[in-house]
Amino acid sequence: MPFAHDTEVALAAAAALVNTDGSVEFSDGEQLPDIAALDRFIDTWGWTGEREHNDAELRAVRTLRPRLRRIWEVDEDGVVAIVNGLLSEARALPQLVKHDEWSYHLHATPPAAPLATRIAVEAAMAVIDVVRSNELGRLRICASPTCLDVVVDLSKNRSKRFCEGTCGNRAAVAAYRARKSQISAPR
Ligand SMILES: [Zn+2]
Ligand SMILES: [Zn+2]
Repeated sequence: MPFAHDTEVALAAAAALVNTDGSVEFSDGEQLPDIAALDRFIDTWGWTGEREHNDAELRAVRTLRPRLRRIWEVDEDGVVAIVNGLLSEARALPQLVKHDEWSYHLHATPPAAPLATRIAVEAAMAVIDVVRSNELGRLRICASPTCLDVVVDLSKNRSKRFCEGTCGNRAAVAAYRARKSQISAPR
């Protein structure tokens, strides 16, 4: 496991959020079309704290996506500028907290901060660990030529090339077929 558990969850959640963006080329369309979709997303990834359940909140979360996507696209100095910007804008104050089934982990925003702010700061805090351990190479764009989804490679041998879902499955099926055809090929 390259990072602390809460860092890994936060990175995966940030990537999943970025990949909900329907405005990106090759995307499967808007994955956060309405407040109900946002609710499901927030439940899936276990974000806690206060919610407004209104259009302004949804809009703020959607607007955050292209900003977070840049973390996957720019060089190290660029990533640092984004992370520092997100943290200072939110006036982040790191605190160790414990809640629900989670043991002590970092929160850098109060539970009453706007949802998009909490998501932004959680992502920024996780990327801090990635930069500090010189592991930005683990943040990649999906290797499929028809997909621009972002990928967080948390594998031991740094071998994850495809995004979760379609591309990853497709690559696994292709590899399986290739192996099978080798075995059954006439000699
Ligand atoms: Zn928490
Ligand atoms: Zn993909």
